[in-house]
Amino acid sequence: MGEFELIRQFFMPLARLHGPHSIIVGPGDDCAIQRVPSGSDLVFSLDTLVEGVHFPFHYRPDYLGWRALAVATSDLAAMGADPTSYTLALTLPEADESWLRGFACGLGKAADAFGLVLAGGDTTRGPLALSLQVHGLIPRGAAILRSGARPGDLVAVSGTLGDAGAALDYLGAQACSDPQSFSADEAFVLKRYHHPEPRLELGAGLRGLATAAIDISDGLLADLSHILEASSVGANIEVARIPVSAALKRLKGTGARDYALHSGDDYELCVTIPEANWTGAPPSLKQQFTVIGVIEEAPGLRLDGAAVVSESDTLGFDHFRRKS
Ligand code: ADP
Ligand code: MG
Repeated sequence: MGEFELIRQFFMPLARLHGPHSIIVGPGDDCAIQRVPSGSDLVFSLDTLVEGVHFPFHYRPDYLGWRALAVATSDLAAMGADPTSYTLALTLPEADESWLRGFACGLGKAADAFGLVLAGGDTTRGPLALSLQVHGLIPRGAAILRSGARPGDLVAVSGTLGDAGAALDYLGAQACSDPQSFSADEAFVLKRYHHPEPRLELGAGLRGLATAAIDISDGLLADLSHILEASSVGANIEVARIPVSAALKRLKGTGARDYALHSGDDYELCVTIPEANWTGAPPSLKQQFTVIGVIEEAPGLRLDGAAVVSESDTLGFDHFRRKS
């Protein structure tokens, strides 16, 4: 199969979204064209995933398609943007049709779930890697940045933390194995890793309410620290308040806390919100969040009043930093 046949067969179908969208020219021309309504800002973000670095070797292609787009789209959720389109740069060792079918299926399911249409891409041969650029729209000036947190704001997180990190313990060589060979709790955390769900409705619901937001990809401490740095503030977190799933508690016992603090891949949101905005927020939105702490003037991150001293806790994952 040639490059153009491959694009035609597996990716062109993803360029047709059921329902209205703002792509005027999709794949097939020199560029794609998306119309940006006046009064909107275009919000976009690029993520690259490399086999063996961001996902295991021989990872199931349908899982990869979903996970790659979900991870990229999570950044739109963290800004409060509504997804519109994406482009895909795919590097493949070979044109394996069954792999491509699985990948396109997972990707298409995710795109439909998030309201994204494929606008174009690039296809090359080499070690397996993909880059996804996602585009979204937001009313002008309404994007939620990392830099808006102010002393007194509450710190809240969505969902439960640590699940996807715990899944890494069960992935190992079993990345392709039958999910039914796992216990219900193991299957729960594995699903959290394989099938992240960007918190798009929550992000959009926080417009005008939250002062800062970030999606938790590297771990709560690391990602909250990015907000603190960008906003020139500090925070105190009450560790006992951090939401942890029953499955994680059963699997890891007292160790669950460390997963919730340090491990990433959950793609939940961490937000700061003035108390008055929190009080007045719709109950349906508040239900999805847990308040875990407060923003303070003194820089640095504290857990139950004690400073977090380890740099590796607050810096998060860095591809180029040497491990000590
Ligand atoms: P050019 O040489 O002009 O850069 P390409 O040959 O790379 O164009 O791509 C031709 C068309 O196919 C472009 O419109 C591009 O967006 C689209 N395309 C290439 N690869 C993909 C892909 N993986 N998914 C979707 N569209 C793709
Ligand atoms: Mg061209």
